[in-house]
Amino acid sequence: MENSKPDETLQASTSIRNICNVCGSEFTASFRHSHQKYCMYPQCTRDRNAVRKKKNTKLHLKNADYRARTSQRKHEEYMLRKARNRQQRAPDAGPIPFYEPVTTRNLDVYFMGLISYATGTKSASDLARLRDCCYEIGKNICLRV
Ligand SMILES: [Zn+2]
Repeated sequence: MENSKPDETLQASTSIRNICNVCGSEFTASFRHSHQKYCMYPQCTRDRNAVRKKKNTKLHLKNADYRARTSQRKHEEYMLRKARNRQQRAPDAGPIPFYEPVTTRNLDVYFMGLISYATGTKSASDLARLRDCCYEIGKNICLRV
């Protein structure tokens, strides 16, 4: 306890007070980032981000080497992410299920599935009756148009 008190007072006395580049107000910089030039107000944060983006864009446009390095780094990050995702999925999920695209041959399968999904019915006779109903309704609509 006695050791912590002097440290606190030391930290308080050595806390760095900076002046914001945008609003000009004085603020206490984080002790980890003593070089901070922008305070934490939302508008100042937005301005800081805009400045950083502009600077980064300039670097990208002018410096081909920087561009290449960034591109390489992003590609490596992407490949790492991809590998990680593959690893996470692999153990128990198994292969990704394959669904046939809708064709005239399997249209009735998809249609029966749709009716079952919409109504919550699993009974084959009910589904057949509903399919016939849908056919009648569709036929009437098509004949009218
Ligand atoms: Zn500010």
